[in-house]
Amino acid sequence: MSPDPLPSHHRPGGGFRNPWVDQAVPGFGSLLKWMLVHRTTRPRPKDPDPSVFTRVPPDFVPPRAPLSQLTVTWAGHASLLIQLNGLNLLTDPIWSERASPVSWAGPRRWVAPGIAFEDVPPLDVVLLSHNHYDHLDDQTVRRLARTHPQATWIVPLGLASFVQKRGAPGAVVELDWWQESSIKAVRIAATPAQHFSSRGIGDRGDTLWCGFSLSGANGRRVYFAGDTGYHPEFRTIGERYGPFDVALLPIGAYEPRWFMRYLHMNPEEAVAAFRALNARMLVPIHWGTFKLTDEAMDEPPIRARAAWDAAGLPPSGYRQLAHGETLTL
Ligand code: ZN
Ligand code: ZN
Repeated sequence: MSPDPLPSHHRPGGGFRNPWVDQAVPGFGSLLKWMLVHRTTRPRPKDPDPSVFTRVPPDFVPPRAPLSQLTVTWAGHASLLIQLNGLNLLTDPIWSERASPVSWAGPRRWVAPGIAFEDVPPLDVVLLSHNHYDHLDDQTVRRLARTHPQATWIVPLGLASFVQKRGAPGAVVELDWWQESSIKAVRIAATPAQHFSSRGIGDRGDTLWCGFSLSGANGRRVYFAGDTGYHPEFRTIGERYGPFDVALLPIGAYEPRWFMRYLHMNPEEAVAAFRALNARMLVPIHWGTFKLTDEAMDEPPIRARAAWDAAGLPPSGYRQLAHGETLTL
């Protein structure tokens, strides 16, 4: 019998790729072109003053929400505290001042974390979508490993050793796309995303990237997309794991399109992904916290809201949160 063929997102010889667009995904040359040519020759839209981004006190239930209650608190960027079926789950945690390999340079935080680190309730699960600095922060991982030793970390293929080396004493579960793991009464599935991984030179695609579907035994369901361009699998994700009470979808870091379109959805694509996903509510993430790309910092939610209205979706289904704000369902 011949062995099962390699899944199409696995590179022959090791590492990972996007099965839909890999040839088109821009490489290091495009990064240089963006940084050195595009950015220096074109005017960029002006950013608002950071004070326009409000921060409100969180309203999750410490230490744990009742079984039937679902809360989602936006700590900023892709960091969210999710209380589902009695568990506390945290996504892509970054509490540091910069999303960067060094503390003295790189994108600086525009808004303080919406939840004070000391106020993070006892964690059952930490979810990591991929290894970019704005999603996987060395110092935050070390602090969480120390202060939440009971947490199970759920990561895409190849990322377990990163967490273990930084002191996580508990279980670290690595998932491939479509693989699942259950923590108490919550079933967690890693789902496809169109993106890439890298933290340095020559490590592109060595570890996997993904989103997560979270299904409580109580019937409440959440989808966290991680970092992703628009891809053809959103409908399948919705069919397999939906309907979702809420979809947490990235809407920022999309300009210039010739470079970013393969890596990050723009607001219109986020609304299209929402429609494919079988979800009741959209909470926009991955905007307003770190300046990563060329669009103005306050543009993503304006465009997302307009795309939402243009699609004729119910106004109450679009829930833009302030940093720290809690959505209770
Ligand atoms: Zn990323
Ligand atoms: Zn990102």
